[in-house]
Amino acid sequence: MKRYTYLIVGAGAAAASAASAIRKQDPQGSLLMLGAESDPPYQRPPLSKGLWLGKDKEEEITLKRPADWETLGVTLALGDPVINLDPERCVVGTKAGKTFFYEKLLLATGGQPRPLPTPPGLENRVFSLRSLADYRRLHTRATEGGTVLVIGGGFLGAELAVALSLQPGLAVHYCVSGKGPLAHVLPPPLMEQVSARYREAGVQLHVEHHFKDLRSESGQLISRFADGAEISCDWITYGIGMLSLTALAEAAGLVMAPGGVRVDDGMRSSDPRIWVSGDLATYPDPVWGTPLRLEHWDNAEATGRAAGSSMAGKEVHFQHQSMFYSDIYEFGFEAVGECRSDMDCYTDISPGGDKAVVYYLRDDQIHGILLWNVWDQVKTARSLIAQKAVVHLQELRGRIGDW
Ligand SMILES: Cc1cc2nc3c(=O)[nH]c(=O)nc-3n(C[C@H](O)[C@H](O)[C@H](O)COP(=O)(O)OP(=O)(O)OC[C@H]3O[C@@H](n4cnc5c(N)ncnc54)[C@H](O)[C@@H]3O)c2cc1C
Repeated sequence: MKRYTYLIVGAGAAAASAASAIRKQDPQGSLLMLGAESDPPYQRPPLSKGLWLGKDKEEEITLKRPADWETLGVTLALGDPVINLDPERCVVGTKAGKTFFYEKLLLATGGQPRPLPTPPGLENRVFSLRSLADYRRLHTRATEGGTVLVIGGGFLGAELAVALSLQPGLAVHYCVSGKGPLAHVLPPPLMEQVSARYREAGVQLHVEHHFKDLRSESGQLISRFADGAEISCDWITYGIGMLSLTALAEAAGLVMAPGGVRVDDGMRSSDPRIWVSGDLATYPDPVWGTPLRLEHWDNAEATGRAAGSSMAGKEVHFQHQSMFYSDIYEFGFEAVGECRSDMDCYTDISPGGDKAVVYYLRDDQIHGILLWNVWDQVKTARSLIAQKAVVHLQELRGRIGDW
């Protein structure tokens, strides 16, 4: 059984970033990265955006070429998930029956799509999207045309509805349970702009539609919603949330947090030889100190980097305020902190309505800022949140937006 100084379980954003950070501190220690997918680490955001819109190509989204991982001294073992973790013996075991000893272990397994309840026999017409392999399946189906139903008002559903509406030969129904797409984040004026844009693109947008069940009738898929409405289509794709892959951490007896694994500000778990990063890690919010778990690319890279540095012996106190972003047609936004439309919101919108800054407040303090078609202001947004100043809604006008 081979022994590694550093063993990384998972081969996504957090894992890749941790491996690079380890190498900055320790060029020598042996490093193995074990991944369930056959593809080497790649960027996930283009799977629902750039690859569909022709902005990215598959070969451009890999994080490093296999030869570059080798040069970095990272051994990649792909296509074989880890299924056992014995923290007493410091051993992991894979599905193919391989076992490895570790001195220091990183769990960076991310998550998997929350499944849409699907009757047996219909699975091959219902598509989720998490991996490059999922994207390839979905893309092949999309090129065959027909009527597709997209379910989910979050980022993934919203981006999929955009991507599919721009493919030739597809009729798109888009169902969301809220009052519009991204209703959990966007205040009404922005959500209405977005809703109008979907309709302009020919999407049949159905709001306040709570998915209930699915059946097949005369070759069509029939989705039924809580209010009794039904939509008929040829195939379905959906994004209704993510479930973190916590099984290894739970089996190892690590202290858990809702939806993730509890770590300190150096990404170290309750086992001093195990670190956790990315979508899986719940760490102290650098501004507020409360437990925080995020499902965003920047967070995965930053927490991966922190975990890698800490594993290689550097003292780390994670201070990064992660940002997230999305693109919906020609609207683009970047955001920092907690951005929920059910918080106290102030929307500073430009006279033409094309740009906006949304401030999200709790107890009169800014907890989140969303920059709508406003660029290069993430740093300012971070600093406004970090000040923790008590503000009044009307004082926020013009703080960032200059119109
Ligand atoms: C389609 C899509 C679009 C997105 N777009 C955006 C965006 O625009 N902006 C944004 O901020 N965020 C976006 N995200 C979220 C972002 O990609 C994730 O937050 C980020 O990838 C999380 O990184 P991670 O390393 O924690 O997990 P992942 O990237 O999921 O990587 C985890 C890896 O571990 C592997 N693994 C799991 N279990 C095991 C095991 N037992 N053994 C070995 N390997 C295992 C998985 O197969 C996977 O390869 C998007 C996500 C998706 C799916």
